[in-house]
Amino acid sequence: MVISTTISDSSEHLHATFASRYVRDPLPKFKMPERSIPKEAAFQIISDELMLDGNPRLNLASFVTTWMEEECDKLIMASVNKNYVDMDEYPVTTELQNRCVNMIAHLFNAPVGENETAIGVGTVGSSEAIMLAGLAFKRKWQQKRKSEGKPYDKPNIVTGANVQVCWEKFARYFEVELKEVKLREGYYVMDPVKAVEMVDENTICVAAILGSTLTGEFEDVKLLNELLTKKNTETGWGTPIHVDAASGGFIAPFLHPDLEWDFRLPLVKSINVSGHKYGLVYAGVGWVVWRTKDDLPEELIFHINYLGSDQPTFTLNFSKGSSQIIAQYYQFIRLGFEGYKNIMTNCMDNANVLKQGLVETGRFEIVSKDIGVPLVAFSLKDTSNYTVFDISNNLRRYGWIIPAYTMPPDAEHIAVLRVVVREDFSRSLAERLLSDIEKVMREMDAVQSRATTRATHVIATVDETREGEGEGSEKLNKKTVMENREEIAMYWKRVVDRKKTSGVC
Ligand SMILES: *Cc1c(COP(=O)(O)O)cnc(C)c1O
Repeated sequence: MVISTTISDSSEHLHATFASRYVRDPLPKFKMPERSIPKEAAFQIISDELMLDGNPRLNLASFVTTWMEEECDKLIMASVNKNYVDMDEYPVTTELQNRCVNMIAHLFNAPVGENETAIGVGTVGSSEAIMLAGLAFKRKWQQKRKSEGKPYDKPNIVTGANVQVCWEKFARYFEVELKEVKLREGYYVMDPVKAVEMVDENTICVAAILGSTLTGEFEDVKLLNELLTKKNTETGWGTPIHVDAASGGFIAPFLHPDLEWDFRLPLVKSINVSGHKYGLVYAGVGWVVWRTKDDLPEELIFHINYLGSDQPTFTLNFSKGSSQIIAQYYQFIRLGFEGYKNIMTNCMDNANVLKQGLVETGRFEIVSKDIGVPLVAFSLKDTSNYTVFDISNNLRRYGWIIPAYTMPPDAEHIAVLRVVVREDFSRSLAERLLSDIEKVMREMDAVQSRATTRATHVIATVDETREGEGEGSEKLNKKTVMENREEIAMYWKRVVDRKKTSGVC
């Protein structure tokens, strides 16, 4: 969390076992200590506390890369002290970023001529990339409205209700109304027909997602482009499309090269992708690429001069690390198209092994699709005894971090578990996970049947003792049974309600 929620209690202190050979006094937790401590002690104290964090490799909740090659780790460590924004001091790093932008633009079929350079920028992640793309659309729309002498104070953006939280952030921070197309049971992405119906003269863009965060499904950008082109011809609004390819941008080009979702579609003006998801770099890098120079309003660009040449920049932050950019370049040249294709194929195969195993238990409904991001989202067919939230909680005991969540409106009554398959999730881990899911369910089945037996027993005992108590006892007993059932139902409802508030990343 950015905002600290730890309750500050100045009397709380940190005691470290091993570090006691270096320090004797406990450290205050919430105030800066008065005195310095030896470096070994600081290292030991922090390492000890961090042991209780989850194991990133077993964190199946996240798309973000948790493993890279040693050679790349070395490059990262060698560049952690480079501030990316010092472009005159580190011109090579800037050059590597520009190469990455061009590689991505070509991968997404941007209409870049032989001697032209692509328009794009490295960001902290897709969230920053989306803020920048959104700002460009807002500014373009405002310019157009101003030139037409029309009001430009009520911009809106059309998305599916399945959008990632960063779109809601963009909308709130930059004062754009978010118009969400509702989902429905069995259809968990933006319906292009409904999206285009929602478009009006104040719509700055329609945002489609390549790889819905909730189910990994690709939205039908081609159909959206078709329908929107028709509407644009009728209305003259010229509403553009942005593709949020945070997770799918490094999947589709390798696994489904014929799928048209990118700059091959004329209305797609910008695309973002997370370098730290299937771009295979540790957390801290994203990319946004524009179709042409004209799609990024000049007034948003700041110019820095270095070594006599002009360095345009368009970012929200000023300083940031260089390591992630260098690591991205490493992955591109190390793996090449072939390497990325092999890794993504492997991820998909492992996701399929997991999916098949889950289907075979007969207990789950698979919600994710065959064409999409390598993840498995699944719901429990029978939720009368326990829910996906209980499975998620119980799997924690075996070290697995697998989120459970409810779908957005109007499919809130569907709750799913989601396993993201990354490069470092091996086939044997998939098999292990399957057997742990089955184990957890067997345990819960057993607890449930014991509880039912006990409940029946208690009710029977109550019945016996009340026998011969005279009139009215039968009525009393019935109420007890009813109350019992109601209480159990209420308990589950509370569990589910409590879980609904926690989202998914
Ligand atoms: C992960 C994700 C984001 C946010 O990306 P970050 O790189 O984590 O900032 C946005 N949209 C979608 C569809 C995502 O999956």
